[in-house]
Amino acid sequence: MKSVIVIFTFLITALQVYAQKNCGTSGYWQEQLSTNPLLRERYQRINNTANKIVKKKSGFAVSDMTIIIPVVVHVLYNTENQRISKAQIQTQIDALNNDFGKLNADTINIPKPFAPLAADCKIQFALARVDPEGYATTGIVYKKTNETSWKQDDKMKFSSSGGDDAWDSRYYLNIWVCNLSKSLLGYATFPGSDLLKDGVVIRTDIFGTMGNESSAYSRGRTTTHEAGHWLNLKHLWGDTDCGDDGVDDTPQQKTYNTGCSSFPKITAGSCNTGNNGDMFMNYMDFSDDACMLMFTYGQKQRMRRLFDEDGARATILQSYALGEAWKAKPAEEDSVTTATGIAIYPNPSVNEIYFRDSQGKTITPDEYRIYDVKGKLLIYGYKHTLVNISKLATGIYFTRIQYAGGQRVIKFVKQ
Ligand SMILES: [Zn+2]
Repeated sequence: MKSVIVIFTFLITALQVYAQKNCGTSGYWQEQLSTNPLLRERYQRINNTANKIVKKKSGFAVSDMTIIIPVVVHVLYNTENQRISKAQIQTQIDALNNDFGKLNADTINIPKPFAPLAADCKIQFALARVDPEGYATTGIVYKKTNETSWKQDDKMKFSSSGGDDAWDSRYYLNIWVCNLSKSLLGYATFPGSDLLKDGVVIRTDIFGTMGNESSAYSRGRTTTHEAGHWLNLKHLWGDTDCGDDGVDDTPQQKTYNTGCSSFPKITAGSCNTGNNGDMFMNYMDFSDDACMLMFTYGQKQRMRRLFDEDGARATILQSYALGEAWKAKPAEEDSVTTATGIAIYPNPSVNEIYFRDSQGKTITPDEYRIYDVKGKLLIYGYKHTLVNISKLATGIYFTRIQYAGGQRVIKFVKQ
């Protein structure tokens, strides 16, 4: 009987361990590194530079402008319940922006000695407005799948295995929302990853801050944590006993914290010898959402280092995903109308077209692009008053015009 009780107690303990915040990133990443020498080399290089900068500089590695990261959310659903609403998805984007921008109301709960270290990272997130092909998008892809449950094996990242292919991860943060098997809340790639796998995966029921209020993960902070990894942040304990996270202003700690600790959390015999103990309220620990409250200036610097000219995520700054769509499907003509009143003349036309403003005056557009109805780019140019279309086949075309800071897509007919 006694042994039964012992086994039972053990099971309960094991279950409790399982119920704690479970981020799959370090296991996943170790596996990726061990099977891919090129990735290992790339990641090593990124980390060498990140650490040098962090130790060398006292200021920020990049200028303090706000970096906006375009996001595409791939929602993989098997049941209607898993087809989460756009409103719920937006609550997650808002939560990311609050957390990375230090706008979250609960920053007041940061213990006093740590409060001066809490940073507005000046990193923000926005749902993409233009897809990789140039069409307008909500930044959300809904995809019905036959898969009922997912593991950290990247199958959700490929249409061929029931998931959804990544959008070009040089220009988008891909977030896959799917029914990860219960013990797993999410996992992420670090910078340097294979582009087709690059991004963050989050369990559907903890994505956003709606509909999951009773959960310990109801504030969208698993996504904050995983986005932290995507931006090269490690766990505070460096994934080993008293390891290094490559950041100077996070105290060393023996291992992770769970639930909600009380300050100061000092573990006897721990490597953390400071009076303030562990920074358990950091987003890169394993505390419950209600008790994760901050990134530090050192973490901010490490993340922003990626956006330097030679940084591993510098291409994000060149993304067109938050601009205006440059292709319009026939049904979407005039969907881009920030330069209202501009017209093409003559229309229909045989040999050449002009552009006119609302007063009928000829204008010289800053840029124009002419597409066929399938969205194929055929002619483009800058600062031309007159466009020769004589070589086009007869049919319908779309012209995207940029003029005086505005844009418009106009249909015309070539005769
Ligand atoms: Zn993690």
